[in-house]
Order: sequence, then structure tokens, then C-alpha cells
Amino acid sequence: MNSFNKWFLSTASNGVENYHKFMTEAVKVVSTHYRDLEKPYQHIEIEEIQNKIEAYVTFEEKGKSPDAVLASLQDLVMKHSLHISHPGAMAHLHCPPLIPALAAEVIITALNQSMDSWDQSPIATYIEDGVTQEVIKEIDYPNTASGVFTSGGTQSNYMALLLARNEYCAKNFLINVSKQGLPIEAKKLRIFCSEKAHFTVQQSAAQLGLGMDSVVSIKTNENYEMCTDDLYEEIEKAKQQGYLPFAVVATIGTTDFGSIDPLDEISKLAEREGMWLHADAAYGGALLFSNTYRHLLSDLKKADSITMDFHKWFYQPVSCGAFFVKNSSMFEHIQLYADYLNPEEDQQLHLVDRSIQTTKRFDALKVWLTFQVVGKQEFGNMIDYTIKTAKQTAAFLQNQINIEVLNNPVMNAIVFRYQPKVIYKDNQKQQLLYENTINQSIQQLLYEQGNLIMAKTKYQEKVYLKLTMLNPLITFDEMVKRLNEVIIVGQKLEQEEEQLHECSSFS
Ligand SMILES: *Cc1c(COP(=O)(O)O)cnc(C)c1O
Repeated sequence: MNSFNKWFLSTASNGVENYHKFMTEAVKVVSTHYRDLEKPYQHIEIEEIQNKIEAYVTFEEKGKSPDAVLASLQDLVMKHSLHISHPGAMAHLHCPPLIPALAAEVIITALNQSMDSWDQSPIATYIEDGVTQEVIKEIDYPNTASGVFTSGGTQSNYMALLLARNEYCAKNFLINVSKQGLPIEAKKLRIFCSEKAHFTVQQSAAQLGLGMDSVVSIKTNENYEMCTDDLYEEIEKAKQQGYLPFAVVATIGTTDFGSIDPLDEISKLAEREGMWLHADAAYGGALLFSNTYRHLLSDLKKADSITMDFHKWFYQPVSCGAFFVKNSSMFEHIQLYADYLNPEEDQQLHLVDRSIQTTKRFDALKVWLTFQVVGKQEFGNMIDYTIKTAKQTAAFLQNQINIEVLNNPVMNAIVFRYQPKVIYKDNQKQQLLYENTINQSIQQLLYEQGNLIMAKTKYQEKVYLKLTMLNPLITFDEMVKRLNEVIIVGQKLEQEEEQLHECSSFS
């Protein structure tokens, strides 16, 4: 028997045994840690991190005993990771993973299928296609629709604009961009999205050779939704200046506010102008399964393409996203045939034909296992519960005198800030700086304390705190306790500043 056997999931018994032992130990490390987890984060200074990296992150000539390595995992990794499943962690669109999805990860990694060509994933290829078809049914897309798993919203948004650009150039200039490159007119192409859209719209434009200046930012209304009047005017203005509007991106759940752009009106404008409509539902896509708010996505089917992130509000481990197109023939714009991988004459499905990735994970299994075990109804209940808790929390915050709340949550994101008294009456700039510093400090102090992990964002030059209450384990009562902590820290910082201010006024 070959001595490498124990390192692989081979038919040799010591391979299988070693796998079982390692996996059991890894599960033990995780479950032991979570059993006594008190807070989402145990603070560590950057200096100390560097010391740990120097001590632990080294490549050794000879391997250590697995037991020794598993023990150092506890000290190096578990202790200072951000524990996103803890209900005190609510900064970003970063979710606690569902247990069935974690179990699926075990199978995904062991099987290690690659989703590019059929011969590397004979059944997995069709499972991925089947899972995307189930989502397509929920969207109520026509049967021409198709989808593919992606690494996330960044890739999905990029793919949308890539297809939109190539389709526009094929239709209007008879140019095959994949083959011939961009036409001279490419400099005139224009994309429209709201000022609250995700930055990956600009990023995609930059990468697609259109430049970030090709993205026209559209104003939002008091609910942070795209103003369709402004969209109409900006499209007209662009056309008058000789530009070529070819795509509009509607955000279905903006990253900060969870606001939903009016898809129905936008789709009418897009259709009239012959523009591609992309719906970035990275965040909001989960509402498809809501028992109460599903109607908010009833116009999603009007989009030519859709981004959906399962590693956000679908509670899947990173990475797990998908991209959908209403008309599967649009994928032809990115199809290249390699003799070794996906020759054109093959009858089987090669998912590389729908993707800009080659080697690709079998992430669809997580989504399949989740819906098999949890079911659509229970999943929908989780979605609805988080919205209810967020609405209650926003109402609580609105009742606090020293808190300003920016949005009434449609989903589960709340943007707010601590509002201290005005002490720099004659100096607006200094007052703003003071208010921003207080809010930054609240976020950072609470992060370091480790009980409440919030994000911060900016709106009209002001620093705001942000709660993304994805976790269905968050309760309203606990939220009140955590937010009272925000207010106490805010008041303390405010008193300190006031004392400083008084002292300096005396002198
Ligand atoms: C998160 C997000 C993205 C980016 O998705 P990744 O999965 O992080 O690549 C794009 N659009 C919106 C609206 C998002 O919330």
C-alpha cells in the first residue's frame, strides 16, 4: 500500500478512516466553540494579529500531528473570527449559514465536482440546471429563461452588462464583440442606474472597456428608489448629446436601505428605448419566498436578466450566487468552444457555456439541500420574521430623541445615527465633523467590545450606522438592549465633547 493513501479519500480503508477522523475533529472544533460563544467578536489588536501570523502562518518542512494543528486552529482562527451566526453581528449583507447548507458543503468539497464541463460533473451539472429552473419558476420567467451559478453579485452584474453590451453591438452595429472587439461607437454607450445602486455597476463598466463615466447616476426619491422621471430625462438628455443608452440597472434591494426600484415603470421605459433591463436582486431576491411580501417582486419577470445572491438572504455559505437571463440565447455572446472541454458538437450540457468561470464549485447543492430540508414555507417564515423585527426595531429607534433614522425598512436594513446636541452653533462644518466622529466612535467602540457589530455608511456627508438584520435569531427584546448600549455610548461621547468644548470656551 502506498503511503500517500491516508491523505486522500481513497478506497483504501486508511483514507476513508482518516477523512472521517479529520472531519469529526473539525466539526468538534466548530461545535465546541459555538457551544460557549458569548459574543460575535473577541477583539484583537492588529499588532497582536501580526504576532500570531508570524507564529502560526508558516510552511513547515515536515507536517505536524493533526491534533496539534487542530488545537492551534482554536487559538489562531476560532477565537478572533467574526461569528456571523451570533445575533449580535448585523453589519453587512453577510448571513449566518443554514445547517443543511453546511452539511452540503461537506459533500460539495468531498465530491469536488467541477461545473465547467459535463464529464467533470455528470449529475451535478443537471442538478445546478434544475435548481436554477426552480428559481426561474418562482420568478415566473418564460420557459426560454436560463440561469447559472456564480461567485456572487459582482460576477452576476458583470455578466449582465457584458451580455447587454454585446447584444446591443450585435443588433445595432452588426459587430460580434467577442470576436471583433468593441466598435468605435462604444465610447458613446451609456448605462443608467440609481445613485444607490451597487458600485459593481461602475466596476463592470470599467472592466468592460466602457469606462465608469458611461454610468449615468439617477436620483432617488425619499424612499431611496430610482426616480423614473429623472431616468426619463437623463435618457433623453443622453440621446440629445449623441450618446447611446443601452442598459438600465434596477436595484431590487439597495445595499444600504433595501429599497426597491419601480421595475414596472422602468421596464416600460427600457422597452421603448430598446435598452436591456437588468435587475440587481442580490439582496432582495429572497422576497420571492416571502409569504407576505412576495408581491414586491411581481415585476421581476420583466427584467432581461437578474442577479441573485444566495450567500446573502438565502443563508448560504460563501460563495453562492446566480445569474438569470430571460432569453437563454443571450448566453451565446459569451460562448467559446475548446476542443478539450466543450466541443460544439457535444450533446451534453456544459455549464461553461453560460459562465465566465471555468472551474466552478457545485454550490447548487447547498440551495437544493436547503429547500429539501427547510421547505419553502419555513424559509419564507424566516424572511418575514426578519422584516417584522426590523420594522419593530426601526420604530423603536424613531422614538428615541437622540437618534435619527433614515429609512423605514422594506427589507431588514436600517440606517440611523446618534444625533448629539448642537454645540458648534456658528460652525456647521465643525458640528458635522463632531457628529461624524461620534458615530464612527460608537461603531468602533462597540465592535471592539464585541457585543454589537454594526456597519457604517455615509449619506449626504453624514456618517450613519447600519444594521442589516438578516439573522432570524435576532429578537426585538435583545435589539432594544443592544441599541440602548448605542445610546449610552453616544451620550458618554457627547458629554466628553461638551466638557472639552466648555473648557476651551473658558480659556
Ligand atoms: C452584495 C451586492 C452585490 C455584490 O455581490 P457579491 O456577492 O458581494 O459579489 C451587488 N449588488 C447588490 C445590490 C448587493 O447587495
